[in-house]
This record gives sequence, C-alpha cells and structure tokens, in this order.
Amino acid sequence: MSCIFCKIANKEIKSGIVHENGTVIAFDDIAPQAPVHVVIIPKSHILDVPGLNGVLEDIFSAVDQVAEIKGVKDPGFRVVMNKGKDSGQAVDHLHFHLLGGRPLKWPPG
Ligand code: AMP
Ligand code: ZN
Repeated sequence: MSCIFCKIANKEIKSGIVHENGTVIAFDDIAPQAPVHVVIIPKSHILDVPGLNGVLEDIFSAVDQVAEIKGVKDPGFRVVMNKGKDSGQAVDHLHFHLLGGRPLKWPPG
C-alpha cells in the first residue's frame, strides 16, 4: 500500500500526532495554511464519502479534542473536506482539515 496517509496511520512515516482514538488519527499538516492546521483521517483507507459512515462519530470526536488541544475552541476554527479534482484534493485517503489560529475568510477560494 503506497498511500501516504495509511503509512502515517501505521506509524511507518513519522508525523506530529496531535490526537488518536480507536479509528482515527490527527496530525499536524506538513504545509500548514493557518497557525493551526491539523489533518484528521480514518485509520482505514477510505476513498469515498459513504465509507465514512462508520467513523464519522470518531472523526468529530477527534475534531473536538484537537480544537481543545490546540486552543482554538473559543476563537473558533473551520473543518474542511476536499473531495475530487475541483476541490484540490491531493491525497485520495479521505480526510478532514481543521484550520484555525487566525480569522478565516468566507467563502473560501
Ligand atoms: P488535500 O488537498 O485535501 O488532499 O490535503 C492533503 C493535505 O495533506 C495537504 O494539506 C498536505 O500538506 C498534507 N500532507 C501531505 N503529506 C503529509 C505528511 N507526510 N504529513 C503531514 N501532512 C501531509
Ligand atoms: Zn490510505
């Protein structure tokens, strides 16, 4: 399996792990777009939205934990999932971005 996020989940590649629960792992983005930029992934290689059904609760539990750990719960933060070419998705293993630590423009580009 050559998927980079599977390698991070399996700890074959080192990452700045922020939080982990049964089915989900969260780590600092290697190219942060905001002072706080954490990638939250299911540990299993899920490619499409329906596959997320079983892990959404763990993903959003991790979102809550990461926001608390990073101190952005009060000022606020954004959660983004890119899906497909038009969104700019670069890694096929579905994932969520948690961004914060600065005012975020809306709508996004
Ligand atoms: P996306 O464009 O939604 O597919 O986002 C993929 C994200 O993964 C980008 O923000 C990358 O900077 C990030 N990324 C890629 N490789 C790594 C890595 N080894 N460690 C941490 N973040 C990564
Ligand atoms: Zn994967």
